[in-house]
Amino acid sequence: MVMRIYLKPGREESVLRCHPWIFSGGIARLEGHPEAGATVAVHSAEGAFLAWGQYSPASQIRVRLVSWQDTDEPDAPEFWRERLQRAIALRAPLLADGGTDACRLVFAESDGIPGLIVDRYGEVLVLQALTAGAQARRQLYADLLASVLTPGTIYERSDADVREKENLVPFTGMLRGLEPPALVPIRENGLPFWVDVRKGHKTGFYLDQRPNRQLLRQWIEQRRRAGLGTSVLNVFSYTGAFTSYALAAGAEAVINVDASAEALALGRRHWPEGAPVTDLEGDAFRFLRDLRAAGQRFDVIILDPPKFAFSQADVQRAARGYKDINLQALHLLRPGGLLFTFSCSGAIPPDLFQKIVFGAALDAGREVQLVAWLAQGADHPVALHFPESAYLKGLVGQVVL
Ligand code: SAH
Repeated sequence: MVMRIYLKPGREESVLRCHPWIFSGGIARLEGHPEAGATVAVHSAEGAFLAWGQYSPASQIRVRLVSWQDTDEPDAPEFWRERLQRAIALRAPLLADGGTDACRLVFAESDGIPGLIVDRYGEVLVLQALTAGAQARRQLYADLLASVLTPGTIYERSDADVREKENLVPFTGMLRGLEPPALVPIRENGLPFWVDVRKGHKTGFYLDQRPNRQLLRQWIEQRRRAGLGTSVLNVFSYTGAFTSYALAAGAEAVINVDASAEALALGRRHWPEGAPVTDLEGDAFRFLRDLRAAGQRFDVIILDPPKFAFSQADVQRAARGYKDINLQALHLLRPGGLLFTFSCSGAIPPDLFQKIVFGAALDAGREVQLVAWLAQGADHPVALHFPESAYLKGLVGQVVL
């Protein structure tokens, strides 16, 4: 029996524009007793069919839409196989040059599969289910992925905090194939990295920064060829991915700053002993001040902090945090130096981020030119009908004086 949800009058607007979310406040009534994750038909107040979606009884985002076609219930394995194949095919060019064997294969709503993240690390796939709908289908998704890609391993990392909003408890463990090695070897733009898919952040690696790391390498190479300084401060370095690119570009020295001793230790496997890299373990806010007090200066600074704003309510506090680290970093840059500054908070839009960095430059008394506007990599696409999926933004600022 088809279970139906009827919207309140006038609430069909966003559905007609193919936005995939229906909030609980827009729902007038429910017909039937759908279980968590079940497929429901969404109808307007007047009774017209609008779309099919997945029911999340605990979340404010009560339904996530998957199809706007008034055909059969879109929940056959073939329907999902087609969606997965489509998402995987779109990543083929990224993996084709042979220098990269790690990327996000499925980016949830942007790929038409709500709540499902699939990241590829070489032979290992990591699956993350973030919603009731994805949770209910995780075994099906694992079967389909195994048949479409024949990976050596499918490991589950359904331990992201957002699952709490769906009343889902954290789960990590094996889904298919062999246990993953303690550290999974990957290549990104020709550079080797180790990924801890069991305990690493997110699913193990910040894949979303891939094109921005490549850009950093190019800027440092160009500076070196121009005879300019190439000392780098990599703040919030995690396992030093930006650092590896900087070293590949011939940077003269790099300092990593991160609060995680494990991340820094894993990073040290990425460059040979004796490489000009120093690790500072602890709070970045304090180290930025200490480095300034010690009179240290740098030619390139990367600021890639964790998410500061989790919702609209956090924006002001987050903005103060972003301003503070950018202000400190701008003090630490030599004239002509480069600031690669990022925010992965979806609640901070790009124009606000630029204003925050502007405020920091004003307070630091530095004249800064923006020379690049950055975003998440192409394997984290932003569906035009789903702008909420744009979260990572970055600026490259050049300090004139
Ligand atoms: N640039 C990295 C990703 C950074 S993720 C990459 O390309 O892989 C953010 C990092 O900030 C995490 O490694 C986390 O351990 C670290 N972190 C969080 N709060 C911190 C703080 N107050 N001081 C220093 N590091 C912090």
